[in-house]
Parts: sequence; structure tokens; C-alpha cells
Amino acid sequence: MSAAIELPKPARKRRPPPRVSRVEAIERVTPGLVRITFGGPEMLGFAAPRPGGHIKLFFPPAAMNWPPVDPDAPRAPSRTYTPRRFDAERGLLEVEFVLHGEGLASTWAENTCIGDVMTIGGPGGGYDAPQDATNIVIVADDSAMPAAGMVLETLPKGCRASVICEITDRLEERPLSPTVACNPVWLHRMAAGTAPGALLEKAVAEMAPPSPDTCWWVACESGAMRRIRDIAIRQLGADRTRLHTRGYWKQGDSNHPDHDYGND
Ligand SMILES: Cc1cc2nc3c(=O)[nH]c(=O)nc-3n(C[C@H](O)[C@H](O)[C@H](O)COP(=O)(O)OP(=O)(O)OC[C@H]3O[C@@H](n4cnc5c(N)ncnc54)[C@H](O)[C@@H]3O)c2cc1C
Repeated sequence: MSAAIELPKPARKRRPPPRVSRVEAIERVTPGLVRITFGGPEMLGFAAPRPGGHIKLFFPPAAMNWPPVDPDAPRAPSRTYTPRRFDAERGLLEVEFVLHGEGLASTWAENTCIGDVMTIGGPGGGYDAPQDATNIVIVADDSAMPAAGMVLETLPKGCRASVICEITDRLEERPLSPTVACNPVWLHRMAAGTAPGALLEKAVAEMAPPSPDTCWWVACESGAMRRIRDIAIRQLGADRTRLHTRGYWKQGDSNHPDHDYGND
């Protein structure tokens, strides 16, 4: 029997080590959302985030040596968040956390104090609306509103945005951006007693078909995202090349993967 030939392993892409930061400010924006500002010397080299991009926040168990000296060492549990705003001069990064109840990140955000340490990986990824976009439909739940705000702020000049947001209740209504006005359709999940994303799905299903060149940016619970994607393509004639969908979390799943685009 011939010996199995061991093929060389492709070189692994080395991620840059995560940056150690400290909590500089904590602001309870609404009952269900906390904005946390991270700073410290290592954050001065953080790259400018793109709209809809992401970072990794690490939550090492107490006994874990973290961040590791060896880049191939096991990584601490992490969660994916939106680098909402970065002040490059001062090295200050704002992240907005939905307080959804049980969850490593949500619990941490609810209980953190000024001076607490957080290691941050990234930023990576991002969405750029096509430069010829004249109108866009933005569909977001509360976890995707920080990213939706960034998308709004970077749309090509003259591009009109129709925005639909699903939140718990009226108390969660807030401006998506401090600089770009939009008038979202607010959908209140608690009063409706519906599953996460169901109201977004219904609102999209009831839309009149927009012009075929319409761009779409959709981010919410994974199952709802898939159903909305399907409605947009099959019922509303969305052009797949102008349709960007992303599952930001999945009901019943912890640490949902950060690359769920629903196009599988
Ligand atoms: C690219 C990207 C950007 C993101 N940006 C943000 C952001 O800026 N702000 C933000 O708050 N979230 C954001 N998210 C979503 C966030 O990563 C998830 O909500 C994550 O699961 C939270 O981790 P956790 O440890 O709190 O909960 P997990 O341990 O992952 O999950 C525990 C339980 O909570 C449920 N759960 C998780 N998230 C939610 C939620 N939002 N609402 C209700 N139930 C939930 C899960 O289904 C599970 O049952 C982003 C996700 C992606 C992919």
C-alpha cells in the first residue's frame, strides 16, 4: 500500500493581534441600548471602519492568558459588533450594544464599568452602496441599526433611502445618525407579540415593487433575513447584484457566525 501523500497546507492568513482597550465612557441611550466608548494607546492605530463592517470583541475566561503571545494559540470566545464611530485623533471607538438578555456580550455591556479592559480585533468587511445608486431600501432590526446608520452616512449624493426598523417598543426609537436625517418606519415587536424579524418581513411583503435598480441593505435575525431576501427577489423583483443581506444573529443560537449572507 502506498503511503498517503501529505499535501502542503496553504499558508494561514495571520490576523493582526487584537488591540487592548479600556472602557472610557458608558451611555445608556435607551432602556435597551448602551453605547460604550473604548480607548487607550493601542486604539490609536485602529483602521477607519467601513459602513456595515465589523469588529470582534473578546471575552476570555478568567484563567485564560489573553491576549496570547503565540498568534496560533486558541482564541478566547468572541462576538461580532459594529464599529459605529471612530475618532482617529483620539483613538476612541464607539460600539452600541443591544441589551437582549442572556448572552456573553449583552451581559458584559450591561455590567461593565469605566476602566474595564476589552480586547478588540478588526475592523473587517463592509458595504459600499453602488456609486450609481439613486434609491435604497434599508431594513434593520435593533442589532443592525448602528450599521444602518453608517450605511446612511455614506450613501452616494442624491440617493434616497427608505428605512424600516424593528425595535422592542417606542422607547427604543432613536436617530440612526446624528448627521443624516431619515424618517424610518418604526415597527414595535412587543406590542405585536411577534417573533424577531416577523414585522420586517410583513412590511417588505406589503411594499409596492420599487424600481428594478433599487439597492437593498437588509440585516436582522437570520431566519427573517432569509425570508425577506426571498420576498425581495421573487415578489419585488430585486436585482441580486444590488441586494445585500446579512443575518446578524440567530434565534436560539449563541455566537452566530459573522458571514451569514443568506445567499447559500
Ligand atoms: C456584522 C455584524 C455586526 C453586528 N453589530 C451589532 C451591533 O452593533 N450591536 C448589537 O447589539 N449587535 C450586533 N450584532 C449582533 C451580535 O453579534 C449578536 O446579537 C450576538 O449574538 C450577541 O452576543 P451575546 O453574547 O450577547 O449573545 P449570544 O451568546 O450570541 O446569544 C445568546 C442568546 O441570545 C440570543 N440573541 C443574540 N442576539 C440577540 C439580539 N440582538 N436580540 C435578541 N436575542 C438575541 C441568541 O439567539 C441566543 O439565544 C452584529 C452582528 C454582525 C454579524
